[in-house]
Parts: sequence; structure tokens; C-alpha cells
Amino acid sequence: MNNLKFTILGSGCSFGVPYPGNHWGKCDPSNPKNRRMRCSLLVQSDTTNIVVDTGQDFREQTNINEIKYIDAVLYSHKHPDHTAGIDDMRMFAIRVQNTIPAYMDDTTYEYLARAKDYLIKQENIAYPPIITPHILSGYETFSVGDIDVSTHILDHGTINSTGFRFGDVAYSLDMKDIHDERTFTALEGIGAWIVDAGGFESSENPVHASFEHIMNLNKRIKAKRVIFTSHTNHIDYDTISAQLPDGYELAYDGQVL
Ligand SMILES: [Zn+2]
Repeated sequence: MNNLKFTILGSGCSFGVPYPGNHWGKCDPSNPKNRRMRCSLLVQSDTTNIVVDTGQDFREQTNINEIKYIDAVLYSHKHPDHTAGIDDMRMFAIRVQNTIPAYMDDTTYEYLARAKDYLIKQENIAYPPIITPHILSGYETFSVGDIDVSTHILDHGTINSTGFRFGDVAYSLDMKDIHDERTFTALEGIGAWIVDAGGFESSENPVHASFEHIMNLNKRIKAKRVIFTSHTNHIDYDTISAQLPDGYELAYDGQVL
């Protein structure tokens, strides 16, 4: 596998930051690192582009980051802040006169096949399908172009999510916890872990992990670099970054690994 480039397309919680209505919470509006779109990741080799998740900000993310082609989209789970922008995949399908492969678990597929059936099925000659679904079941490896991908399962409170590993970088969100030993195995040896810590200080959050819990999990996973993502407007980038121990950092939109 060639050297891969990773770009954080979005690092915000389901509301984005500022929240709708221009609510910045504890965030300094003058710091660009506090302006956050919904979580998404771009993974690139010299010849292949993969996007993980297409939330409400997907169109804007492709424009800001000059994404011209998408070889595949990977879905972590069905929640709208990770799927709602899928309609804007249409332009990428039109550009190559083909459907775009979309990898997702069966729960996500059932949701999209119901809510967005016109994207998957031939309903109308004027609107051909734009994605070809590939259903993920558990722990798998597959390739998109020259990029190898492996999956791991995460506990997101009310549903499971699918995390993805590309070489020595893993992307694990949304998640509250890890309950399957195979996930620890799948994450063995990673160098960088981009991970949902949307619970911040609260261990009571029903669907997102706290910073402290991720730090505890990393005692086993041992990633040298842990990049927290899915930030609310409580997370002022400079204030919270200054409090993190070595090896832990906050993701921000446009960050490149
Ligand atoms: Zn979610």
C-alpha cells in the first residue's frame, strides 16, 4: 500500500460548531479550529480517494478540500450526521458515469434503502441509482483501488458502529465503548487512533465515550497518537488542548495526517 494521506473533513458533534443559531458555547469564535463540520475523513493514495461518512456538510467538505473524485464511501453507522449528505454523491456518480461503491453494515443499509431508496434502486429513468451497496458483516478486510481497509465493531450505545483501519491509522466513531475482543485485536499495532470522544468529561453520555474512557482503552491499544474527535461547543480548541497529556490531541477540520 502506498503512503496514505488522511484529512479530517469534519470534527464536530451532530450539531456542528457553532450550533445552529450561531451558538459557540465555550468556543472562541475567532479561532478557526473551533469551526467544525460533522465528522468525516478523507483517505487518499496517489490514485484512490475514500470518504468515510457523508453528513450534512458533505457538499461543503468536498468543495473546501477540492475532492474531484470518490472511489468509495464507507459508512460507520446510520445516524444522519454521518449519512444525510449522501444525495450529494450524485455529482460524483455523474462525473464517472457509474455508481459509487458504498460499504455499510446491514442496519445502515436498511435505513438508507428505506429513506433514500431512489439512490439505490432504479425508480425513474431520469434518476439512475448512484451507489452500489456492499454490506459489511463484522470483521472484514477489503481493498478500494490500492488502499487496504479492515473493519472493527464499536459499541455506540443503542447500535453498533463500524470502525475502519487503513495501514497503521484507525478511525473509530461513533463509539461509547469497545465490547468485542476482536476489536482490540484489529487495532493492534496502530500508530494513530482518530476516535470519538464526544462524551468529553461525562461518563454518563449514553452514546459517546469520554476522554478518560478513551485514555483507559488506549492503555491496551497503545496508539502513540490519539486524536479525539466529535467535539461539542464545550471544547474550546486552545483551552482543552493545553490540558491534554502528551500523545493526545484534538482533531480539527482540515487537519492532515
Ligand atoms: Zn452516531
